[in-house]
Amino acid sequence: MNIQQNLTILQQNIKTAQQNSAYAAPEVQVLAVSKTKPLALIKEAFDQGQLDFGENKVQEFVQKEQSLPRARWHFIGHLQTNKVRQIIGKTVLIHSLDRLELAKEIEKRSSAANVVTDCLIQLNLAREDSKSGLYAEDLMDFVAKLADYPHIRVLGLMAIGPNVSDEIAIRKVFRQLRELRDLLQAQNLPYLEMKWLSMGMSYDYQLAVEEGANIIRVGSGIFGERDYSLQEK
Ligand SMILES: *Cc1c(COP(=O)(O)O)cnc(C)c1O
Repeated sequence: MNIQQNLTILQQNIKTAQQNSAYAAPEVQVLAVSKTKPLALIKEAFDQGQLDFGENKVQEFVQKEQSLPRARWHFIGHLQTNKVRQIIGKTVLIHSLDRLELAKEIEKRSSAANVVTDCLIQLNLAREDSKSGLYAEDLMDFVAKLADYPHIRVLGLMAIGPNVSDEIAIRKVFRQLRELRDLLQAQNLPYLEMKWLSMGMSYDYQLAVEEGANIIRVGSGIFGERDYSLQEK
């Protein structure tokens, strides 16, 4: 596993995707998804100039953030309300705001810690039972309610592409997310800033970039295949 080489290939592929599409964002940030990966590999990537890392389990997030506080840590997994307290003040961005109960808890804990927590709203556009996220038709109501949560700042949207090989189906989900972003942006709500579109993983990030992603979340494409037996349940 050559992390430096993988990061270089990633940058080349991003550039190609940007050149292929008028919808592509001028700057695409790579979020290195480091779940299950040891700190030594994370440090290696950090030393290569990779600054942003994503974790999907609270305990692992907290341990790694503590071990490498100079990196920028994102939370990208399903977040249980009873664990919110542990990560408040430590996240650059929570990508998985997907329900009011969670918003309430993030608000409460952020207020207590005197911080504003930056979040992305996660959508489940392919309507897969296995995935978290709001359905598109519930987005506008959800966003309206967030006006009452001054310690949450919504900075964009996040989705996971459908688990299929059909490029057209994957692209459709990414396009839908971009269109929802544009719709929200057009509403000019004072508490929303639609800065980030977080979509695309190792196997579909080129499509995501073509459809306008400006954060791609890449794990195995940087660190190699994962061994999930190393992770908390
Ligand atoms: C694991 C994970 C990724 C990265 O997956 P790869 O296929 O390894 O790139 C991206 N986003 C989320 C939400 C994840 O849980």
